[in-house]
Amino acid sequence: MGGDGIDKLIRPELDGFVGYAASKAPETLADEVEVSVADIIKLDANENVYGCSPGVNAALRDYPDINIYPDPDQTELRKQIGEYTGVGAEHVVAGNGSDQLIDLIIRLFISSENEVINCPPTFALFPHFMNLSYGVLVPVPRDENFAVDVAAVKAAINQKTRLILLATPNNPTGTVTPRRDILEILDTGVPVLVDEAYYEFCGETVASLVSRYPNLMVLRTFSKWAGLAGLRVGYGLFPVKIADYLMKIKEPYCVNAAAMVAVRESFRDREHLMGTVRAMINERERMFAELEKLGWLKPFPSRANFIYCVVLKGKAGELQQKLLRKGILVRYFDLPFLQNSVRISVGKSEHTDILIKRLQELEMEIND
Ligand code: PMP
Repeated sequence: MGGDGIDKLIRPELDGFVGYAASKAPETLADEVEVSVADIIKLDANENVYGCSPGVNAALRDYPDINIYPDPDQTELRKQIGEYTGVGAEHVVAGNGSDQLIDLIIRLFISSENEVINCPPTFALFPHFMNLSYGVLVPVPRDENFAVDVAAVKAAINQKTRLILLATPNNPTGTVTPRRDILEILDTGVPVLVDEAYYEFCGETVASLVSRYPNLMVLRTFSKWAGLAGLRVGYGLFPVKIADYLMKIKEPYCVNAAAMVAVRESFRDREHLMGTVRAMINERERMFAELEKLGWLKPFPSRANFIYCVVLKGKAGELQQKLLRKGILVRYFDLPFLQNSVRISVGKSEHTDILIKRLQELEMEIND
C-alpha cells in the first residue's frame, strides 16, 4: 500500500481533529519576542513561578536508579498522597499528570454513544479527550458569572449519561462551585469527576467524601502548588472500586521515578511550597485590582493562580500578540463561551508590575 493513502486508514471521526492548543515552550519563541528568551515572563500556563522545592533538585541530582522501572503499584506515592489528603492510600491513583487520569476515567466509563455532561467554558482537555473517545459530549453552559447551572445539569441527565465533568476552581474562569451544588449533582448517582487542580489556591475540597460517595472522583495535581509541571505527576482520589479498576487499566509505569522522588521531597518541603502558594494568592488579589484599574479589561474574581479577563477594547488575539512581542506570554480566547478574553497566570510582584506597565503602554495602540 502506498503511503499516500494512509490517511484513509485513520479513524474517519478523527479527520480534521483539532489538537489541544498547548502553551509554547519559550525557547521556540526566540524569533517572535523583542527580549531575550531568558527574560520572557511566562504567564500562559498557570505554572508556579517560584519553581519547585530546592530539595527536589538536590534529590534528583543524586538519584541512583534511573535504569530501574518505577514502582507500578505506586506504593510509597499512594501512601504519601493518602496522608496528605487524609484519605486512605487505597483510594489514590497517580498518573502522568492529572491530564492522563482524565483520559483514563473517560476510557473507564465511556463506550459508544454514552454521554458525558460538561459545563463550558471549562478546561479544554475535557472536550479533547472526549473527541478521542467514542462517547458524546453534552454541553450545559455556565451562567454569565460562570457558575454551574445545577438544574440544567440535572435536566440533561438521561439513561445514556455516564459521567459529569466539573472543574473547581474552574479553568479558565477561576470560579469555585459551592459544595452544596456538588452534593446536589452527586445525589443524582451519576459518576462525577471533580477536578481540583487548583485546590491549594482555594482551600475548598470534597476529597473527604470519596469514601462515602461511590460516584465521586476528585482530581489533583503537583503541577501548580508544588511546581512540578515539567515532571508530570497528578493524582485522583476515588472510591476503592474505581481506584482498583484504574490501577488495572493504567500504563504500568505511568509515574516516572523522577516524579516519585520529587513528590516525596515536595511533601517534606510543604511549608515552603505553601508559602509560595500564599504569595501567589496575595499577588492574585493585587493583580486583580491593578487590572481592574486599567478600565479596559474586565477581570473576574478568581480562586486559582490565574485571572480571566474580558477584553473591552480591541481584540484579545492582538493584545496577546503584542504582549508576546514584549516577552509576556498570556493565553487568549475567542470562542463561543469565551469571547474576546485573556487568561493571565499570577506571577511574582515584579511580573505584575511589568505586565501592568506594558498594558498601559499598549492601550494607546489598541483600536476599538
Ligand atoms: N485540570 C485542570 C482544570 C487544569 O487546569 C490542569 C492544568 N492545566 C490540569 C487538570 C492538568 O494538570 P496536570 O499538569 O497534572 O496534567
